[in-house]
Amino acid sequence: MRNGALIDLVSSFMDMDRSAVEAIDEEVGGLFVSRFLQRRMAETIEGRDSFTREAFRQFLLPGLYTEVDPTNERPHIVDGYPTVNNSYPNSVALMVTRTCHVKCTYCFRGDLITSRQTHDSQAAQAGIDWIKSHPNVSTVLVTGGDPFTVPAEQLAHIVESLVSIPTVNEIRIDTRALTVKPSSVTDSPEVLDALGAAGGKVWFYSQINSAAEFHPDVDRAIAAIRRAGVPIVNQAVLLKGVNHTPVLMREMVYSAIRRGIRTDYIYLLDGGAEVDSPFNVTDDDIRAIFSELWSTNTSGLAKPRAVYVDPTSNTKAQLLVTPFEGNEAAFDKFLADRRRKYSRRDVDGASS
Ligand code: SF4
Repeated sequence: MRNGALIDLVSSFMDMDRSAVEAIDEEVGGLFVSRFLQRRMAETIEGRDSFTREAFRQFLLPGLYTEVDPTNERPHIVDGYPTVNNSYPNSVALMVTRTCHVKCTYCFRGDLITSRQTHDSQAAQAGIDWIKSHPNVSTVLVTGGDPFTVPAEQLAHIVESLVSIPTVNEIRIDTRALTVKPSSVTDSPEVLDALGAAGGKVWFYSQINSAAEFHPDVDRAIAAIRRAGVPIVNQAVLLKGVNHTPVLMREMVYSAIRRGIRTDYIYLLDGGAEVDSPFNVTDDDIRAIFSELWSTNTSGLAKPRAVYVDPTSNTKAQLLVTPFEGNEAAFDKFLADRRRKYSRRDVDGASS
């Protein structure tokens, strides 16, 4: 059902005609953004916040991907275990929900994501049991949707269960909660207790794309995670109009570092996407960003890897060459490979 109040708010915040926002709402099957971001938009209009239109675009515009399962993830879901994606020999993604606080325009699972509660505790438990019975699996990525939409007691149970598996060394919680709904972190003492008792096994993988996403409530959530002794790393997504210049990306990376968060990698999206997609970043933009971040002007902590999800294997292809100068040929080959793979010509069974 159409959310008229949200459409009015977005139209006023983005300075767009209501009919244009309605058309997007129709195209994406219903806009949804967390109440926290709605409050930030309202307060920005009233002059009490500075959340930028650019930062908001990532939740508004229709998706960059025009096809279902662009990273070829679904063939790697284990038969009979819909929550377990096993693309790597020693690592699995445990998809504990399809629910999210927002709908990012670049989501690989965009066709599945919903604002309705979809957590199925039996399916999640079956996934945990599968991991227990596969001692070769040492890394578990808890993902969704957003794990912080799962009721706190159940998310705490998932964390505790995974921590107790002796063969699991590393648990990553993949979430946008810090910047899109920080109260889902600060108001979840059960989860914070479980993280505090994890003894170093858990890592918090945030997704922050713009310096404008930081806010005092976000800082409180970051502090709560750090107090629990859990390191926070960032995986940013490179988006035209959000962070596609060296200045914007540098601002984001350094704003995160000041809060104790290292940006581990920057995702490059579909290299075969239509060039007129609103988020498609040109190879020249990409070169300019990495030439800045991988230069000798930049601290080692501010040098993220360049990563794309390889749709031929659903694994990450990654590169970190530094300094950039002198290594341009390696970088150009990396970008060319990405375009070729996303042309889908070499993906079994996929149409070109
Ligand atoms: S937060 Fe993650 S799961 Fe949710 S819509 Fe964005 S990319 Fe998809």
